[in-house]
Amino acid sequence: MKAVVCYGDGVVKYDKVPEPEMRPDEVKIAVRACGICGSDIPRVMARGAHSYPIILGHEFAGEIAELGAEVNRTAFAAGGKMLSVGDRVTAAPLIPCHTCPSCRQGHYSLCEHYSFIGSRQPGAMAEYVTVPAANVVILPAGVTWRQGALFEPSTVSLHALRLTDFQPGKSVAVLGGGTMGIFALQWARILGASKVVVLGRDRKHLELPARLGADAVISTLTPDYLQQAMDLTDGRGYDYVFEAAGAVETLKLSFALAAKRARVCMIGTPTREMCFSVREWEQLNRKEMYVTGSWMSYSAPFPGEEWRMTGEQLASGAMQTPVEMFAGIYPMQEAAQAFERFRDRSNVKGRILLENS
Ligand SMILES: [Zn+2]
Ligand SMILES: [Zn+2]
Repeated sequence: MKAVVCYGDGVVKYDKVPEPEMRPDEVKIAVRACGICGSDIPRVMARGAHSYPIILGHEFAGEIAELGAEVNRTAFAAGGKMLSVGDRVTAAPLIPCHTCPSCRQGHYSLCEHYSFIGSRQPGAMAEYVTVPAANVVILPAGVTWRQGALFEPSTVSLHALRLTDFQPGKSVAVLGGGTMGIFALQWARILGASKVVVLGRDRKHLELPARLGADAVISTLTPDYLQQAMDLTDGRGYDYVFEAAGAVETLKLSFALAAKRARVCMIGTPTREMCFSVREWEQLNRKEMYVTGSWMSYSAPFPGEEWRMTGEQLASGAMQTPVEMFAGIYPMQEAAQAFERFRDRSNVKGRILLENS
């Protein structure tokens, strides 16, 4: 089959490779669409994957092409459902061990012995990918392949809200207007936030969150952006703050925007060393904030509520995925050009999607 193979150090080729072997508890999926995630960029540019060469891709959708002999005979069939050839599906990319202490508590993203599709084992930027039947999530009727490829980022944002024990009727600040920020905004709305404000740098990139129901959007390039944001809460600050950019400035801003006893969740992954002044850090004490990090998107029963709810809300239309969420859509064979765009990352706002024709 053909696949997008990453050889490390920036080299990506659309190459002929052997079809993946399928274990008895696995299904083979004919991939229709696969997104390029921000986490794929260090795998391509900086030898950030587990081993090379590797087929990347963990945000995908496609059609079941073949079932392993044990599928539908194990208790792991997706959500107790029987799977069939031709089912339209997405899949959770994490393959947890299901037996370590974290897995037994349902904290699969904290698994000690996991594999990961598109990083530790072959991914979905290919004609076919194999995944355990337990990982398969059936796409509800009406959910498109492109939406299927956005499933995973949506679940990551929802996982963060769940980790803050999100309650309706409260104010929310989302820092970052990228894919994660847009999903966090929409989840906050769907789960009944009284007010959602999105802060991001580029005014142009804040048009979409404004259209998707943010009560206000604020560019952090405006000199008095903090004051503006605080004024919207009459100076109290926000009950929930979701940091979805991973930048030093937004990590600090998340503390500044938090109300007393606020819940602050870090979704973004920092990529630079950072230093907090005493005054910046002390807000944690003075406001008695609850701060948590969030990692991936799983809960029990595997793969979890995040995946079920994403399907429901996409199918109902409450969760929207307008075409502006994609920075580009390329045929799979043009993957190398698509990755080239990340040489200047500020060029890429939203997901780049690769599609098999
Ligand atoms: Zn991802
Ligand atoms: Zn485990």
